[in-house]
Amino acid sequence: MKHFSTLLILSLFITLGCKQNVTTESTEKATNEIYKGPIIDMHLHAYPEGDSFLGLTHPPTLRNETFEGAASAEDLKKEVLARFEKYNIVKAVVTSGELWLDDAPDNILIAKANNPVDSLRKKFEEGKLQAIAEMAPFYAGIKANNPSQLPYFKLAEELGLPVGFHVFPGGPNYGFHVMPQMLGGMRVYNANPLQLEEVLVNYPNLKIYLMHGGWPYAEDLKALMYAHPNVYIDLAVVNWILPEEELYTFLKTLMKAGFGDRIMHGTDQMVWPETMDVAIASINNADFLTLEQKEDIFYDNAAAFLGLSEEEINEHKKVNKE
Ligand SMILES: [Zn+2]
Repeated sequence: MKHFSTLLILSLFITLGCKQNVTTESTEKATNEIYKGPIIDMHLHAYPEGDSFLGLTHPPTLRNETFEGAASAEDLKKEVLARFEKYNIVKAVVTSGELWLDDAPDNILIAKANNPVDSLRKKFEEGKLQAIAEMAPFYAGIKANNPSQLPYFKLAEELGLPVGFHVFPGGPNYGFHVMPQMLGGMRVYNANPLQLEEVLVNYPNLKIYLMHGGWPYAEDLKALMYAHPNVYIDLAVVNWILPEEELYTFLKTLMKAGFGDRIMHGTDQMVWPETMDVAIASINNADFLTLEQKEDIFYDNAAAFLGLSEEEINEHKKVNKE
């Protein structure tokens, strides 16, 4: 009997051992592995000294976190560039990026939007403009297909420049109530991603990404992405302001629908560098994502969207392996 029990236990061990191997192999997909390769952040902001955002505390997010604003433009730059090093952020689309260009010439892609079209063209010709972003007419109650906005899309299409267009969510949660001076013109009904459809029909070669991903309009977003293969999104703000579960529900919906190759990492770091930590951790903590899917979100999708050369991509990935 004893012998039998020993055998039983032994065979149980062997079985469990085998099962474990099988499990390891078959769960390659679900992983908590930390992605350590190069990252592209599609959504950052630089500010000049004296800007009113500096020193501003971010009100409690839906995760109930607050963020202290960098006290000066210099502090902000230092904190953000330190994170470029820490996380291997090899490229970043930065509104007002010219302010940091000398410090990180290889990393910064300069973005601008709120300038006359002619001056954007001039900046492009001078090599000082790599994206038209962040277009955010909804803060003034204006939608994408308003005649005032069309010349920007036309220019972007002509020059092959990526456009970053701000849709929902905008500002902090309850922003209308906590920052009425700044966000008083914002309305939910102006921020639905579907407002871009006529623009996409009229400028079919546009390279465009919806900043903030259009949460919570996942169904509308799926429809838009299904109809228009050139629509990408970034996850900025939703990846640090929403509870992780809600972010994951949104992300899973898009992944399940087959759009995992058009979702890009972004932060919308304004004066709160710590949001970059939270945003990156949120994707790394998503155990339903494979390491490969994390790589798509953190790097590959943006590299394709921005049209990085193979040489540049190899260089970014090689550095990581060393
Ligand atoms: Zn932004």
